[in-house]
Amino acid sequence: MTKVVSIYNQKGGVGKTTTNINLSAYVSLLGYKVLVIDADPQGNTTSGFGFEKDNLENTLYDGMVNNISMEDIILKTRYENLDLVPSDANLAGAEIEINQDSKKELRIRKLIDQLNEKYDYIFIDCPPSLGLISINALTASHSVLIPIQCEYYAIEGVSQLVKTIDLVRRGLQIPLEIEGIVLTMYDGRTNLSLQVAEEVRKFFKDKVFETMIPRNVRLAEAPSYGETIEEYDSSSKGAIAYKELAEEFIKKGKDSGE
Ligand code: ADP
Ligand code: MG
Repeated sequence: MTKVVSIYNQKGGVGKTTTNINLSAYVSLLGYKVLVIDADPQGNTTSGFGFEKDNLENTLYDGMVNNISMEDIILKTRYENLDLVPSDANLAGAEIEINQDSKKELRIRKLIDQLNEKYDYIFIDCPPSLGLISINALTASHSVLIPIQCEYYAIEGVSQLVKTIDLVRRGLQIPLEIEGIVLTMYDGRTNLSLQVAEEVRKFFKDKVFETMIPRNVRLAEAPSYGETIEEYDSSSKGAIAYKELAEEFIKKGKDSGE
């Protein structure tokens, strides 16, 4: 069965896209077939895998709005087991264009249904808002993975986030689970990082991944070369952390009987 995971936090700049790119790359290297859906009009996942946003033939937008089939949208990446549904700025218009339609929140789920369980995992990179695109992503997902940046106000935003996920789950009557919390941009030398990590663990308990993603400049540099951290600097701290996160993600799934 395909497991669909949205990477979501309504806050921007918390490491969603970085986690999406690098977690999916390492999960694919563990031998799983992975599809990444870029559901952010900023298209940072798309460019992060080395695709030029100005040169895309079909994107998620065309699937959601123009009924273009997934077969005609999906791109192969440099990773054998990793494919991509790209996005560009057009996606921002999708919300308005389908807003009057019935079943407007089911567009991404319908696209995924075309794939007939071809992939083991589908990761969806969400935009930093709870608009129709994020609702589409969450509606199509079995679970949501939440990156939290180790900084002030992290906890404040997070209790709101849990309420939002509850509302979505009940409103749309979907069994959306919290896959886990990933602490990002962790800096063990600062009290702040330590405190935030401790507070988040107190709040979410075993939902928090043991692996923490350190603040690491190599992670910030890799996308400007259109490379994952595994391609850009596989021995960096950031690379090692995302590799471990991928292993923990898979193990967690197995332990819970998937
Ligand atoms: P989001 O998708 O939530 O907006 P991004 O993944 O784009 O967040 O990250 C925001 C910025 O922080 C980007 O410039 C990214 O390269 C950088 N970044 C993300 N994770 C790290 C990290 N662990 N260490 C250093 N920089 C990071
Ligand atoms: Mg992003």
